[in-house]
Amino acid sequence: MTDNKEKIIEIKNLKKHFETPQGSVRAVDDISFDIYRGETFGLVGESGCGKSTLIRTILRLLPPTSGEIWFNGRDIAPLHRKRDLKPLRKEMSLVFQNPHSSLNPRMTVYDTLARPFRIHGITKTKEETTIEIVKVLKTMGLQAEHMIRFPHELSGGQKQRIAVARALAVEPDVIFLDEPTSALDVSVQTKILKLLEATKEERQLTYFYISHDINLIRVVSDRIAVMYLGKIVEIGKTPLIFGEPQHPYTVGLFKSVPIPDPDRKIGEMSLQGEVPSPVNPPQGCNFNPRCPHAMDICRKEEPELKTTEDGRQIACHLYNR
Ligand code: SF4
Repeated sequence: MTDNKEKIIEIKNLKKHFETPQGSVRAVDDISFDIYRGETFGLVGESGCGKSTLIRTILRLLPPTSGEIWFNGRDIAPLHRKRDLKPLRKEMSLVFQNPHSSLNPRMTVYDTLARPFRIHGITKTKEETTIEIVKVLKTMGLQAEHMIRFPHELSGGQKQRIAVARALAVEPDVIFLDEPTSALDVSVQTKILKLLEATKEERQLTYFYISHDINLIRVVSDRIAVMYLGKIVEIGKTPLIFGEPQHPYTVGLFKSVPIPDPDRKIGEMSLQGEVPSPVNPPQGCNFNPRCPHAMDICRKEEPELKTTEDGRQIACHLYNR
């Protein structure tokens, strides 16, 4: 847990809309929040809520529709030339969800890991590259002998360690982890999460996890944000949000997580109704058709994300009156 208040990323009114024959899909719809240097930030929400689009827009793998993305004190939203974006690939890296498809099956571990060193000019000779590869493999609990292997010769856990090693190779400031362990079994998940935690301390990294796995986010994150239909609805320190969730969506989302509790009533188990189409979201608060507390104002006015007395931010008319 970090109490550092130096902002490494500041997102201001970020939007990412996609034009489709059905209309404009508002995958990221006017989002603002900060990430502090050295923290582990977790973003949760149901599949399709816009989590992956949000991080790909922050990473500038996708151009934003509008808004600002301040990274290390510079707005990177307007950048579009390849040569301006290239340094970002070194400063922020991404670990994909599925290690089975994120590694090139025709490349050895050596070639996969040598690429970022070469592209960013971190090493000058083959010898230097090999030394760095061995170091990064060691960080992820692997040996030099893994260098000559192809992905099909590795287990799922080893593949994901290679994917993390590739993200670490460029010595980034921030690593984005998109469902990093969802393709792995539980014992392998635990090992990878421990390695990630140890590496974070050692290299003073900032982590940004996204997952639909609420228990994973609860365990790893210092602060969390809850996303629904392209918007952040609640954000704050993890013990606060998990100890006392307040936004009706957060409450419903957490209740839908299977936990062994014989006193829990069946009716409390899950969110009601379907997620509306992001092409045609409801007027006012976009959660109103599913919200058990919806009021007239909720169908007319969109609630703003406001800070409450306990320090969390919440976008709900119940708390913003
Ligand atoms: Fe429910 Fe209204 Fe709050 Fe939206 S603003 S979550 S509809 S109470």
